[in-house]
Amino acid sequence: MITTSSSLHPWSSHQFAATVFSTCIAMILAPSLAAQVRVDAEQSNESQFFEFERIQRPAVNDLGMKAKWAVVRGRLDGNSIGTPALGDGKIPQTEDSPRENCFFAAGSGGGCLAADLGATQDIAEVVTYSWHPSSRAPQRFTLYAATGEHEGFVWDRLDNDRSPEQQGWKRIADVDTRTRRGAGGQHASRVTDESGSLGTYRYWLVEVQPTAANDPFAHTFLCEIDFIAKSVDLPERIVAPERQSFAFSSSDGQYQYVIDVTAAPELADWTETELKPVILEWYPRIVAMLPSEGFTAPTKVTFRYQPSAKMEGIPAYAQGGTISLNAGWMNREKNREARGAVVHEMVHVVQSYQGRRNRGARREPTPGWIVEGIPDYIRWFLYEPQSKGAVLSKEALSKAKHDASYRVSANFIDWVIRTHDPYGTLLTKLNAAAREGRYSNEIWQELTGKSEDELASQWKSQ
Ligand SMILES: [Zn+2]
Repeated sequence: MITTSSSLHPWSSHQFAATVFSTCIAMILAPSLAAQVRVDAEQSNESQFFEFERIQRPAVNDLGMKAKWAVVRGRLDGNSIGTPALGDGKIPQTEDSPRENCFFAAGSGGGCLAADLGATQDIAEVVTYSWHPSSRAPQRFTLYAATGEHEGFVWDRLDNDRSPEQQGWKRIADVDTRTRRGAGGQHASRVTDESGSLGTYRYWLVEVQPTAANDPFAHTFLCEIDFIAKSVDLPERIVAPERQSFAFSSSDGQYQYVIDVTAAPELADWTETELKPVILEWYPRIVAMLPSEGFTAPTKVTFRYQPSAKMEGIPAYAQGGTISLNAGWMNREKNREARGAVVHEMVHVVQSYQGRRNRGARREPTPGWIVEGIPDYIRWFLYEPQSKGAVLSKEALSKAKHDASYRVSANFIDWVIRTHDPYGTLLTKLNAAAREGRYSNEIWQELTGKSEDELASQWKSQ
């Protein structure tokens, strides 16, 4: 009965490491191909809206949107939506969305995609976008172009026995956005020419190569290929929705809260009517429960819904004064676990444990079962005791370990408080010791007159 909770919050607040990065990968001049062709590549995980430092977001009025596309070599993956993804001017909803991407079949070794722009066009840049959490994010391809004047030229068929060059295609650039930083995230590549023009062509060919040698799945999730005409000065770009958030304060003005619902606009009403009252009531209560000398709890707390894919399966986590909420999970759990999970995370904000950073001669990191047991105790036994979410049957108790974390440890803490805490100070003292890096298992003897082992065996046999 406890298995869900340990998968719910596997990271405590202090263990979370920021994964946001935005990097310029490379600026490669490709002198062997054409003297002035230049390839820019960038990688970003800033948001779902393809925010790079230099390369702009996908265009919504480029020539690729009216182009005809064909797979001229290789086989697309059955889960891929195929070439319509490349010219629809839309970006995927999540980082792993096969039905919004064009990619080749696992183990197929790649293939070629061709575009017919419908007429000869002077092209200033070709920009390619991709997004995936792992080896399907980077791009590795060779770009060709053709006027169609070559004898016997057929744009939508490629003879496998001869090179594209032998079939009327001109090699324009080699693109490789791979980096040592890790593959996942959003990638963009931009092929330009210092003269301002890549040339005047009607047909384009993208020869896609796998991004890893020993990974049959390493085929790029291509979501958009833009052909920007030289005559267009300012292509229209996809627009990221404006941030939607609302702010409110505790009645005494001591605490300020912001809830950012941009990634879950469908939860805006629920957040206002159901979640906000829980925050208003419980954040100050948690602060009052967990004081320690010289400590001031964060007075500004931000709650931010995040796209599910960005949360890597985690429902919620706290980092400093910011609580991230998995939009998909919150939607599913809004009438069940969602509010309680927020209470749990607010406890992490108030705990403000420094974790391993504070470890020194006498500063041990607080064990995980205390870090997670206290939030689950406050959640299950003080906030929502009626749910009985951390109650254990006699049989479960006899097999339980008090330091199993989350609900089991919450149950243990509840029992110790009910049976060995006549002055009602144990929780405060336990938290203060953990926050100050002085927690050790001897604290149970100090607080209750019994050792941790004695308490644990009494708890099991109650
Ligand atoms: Zn937690």
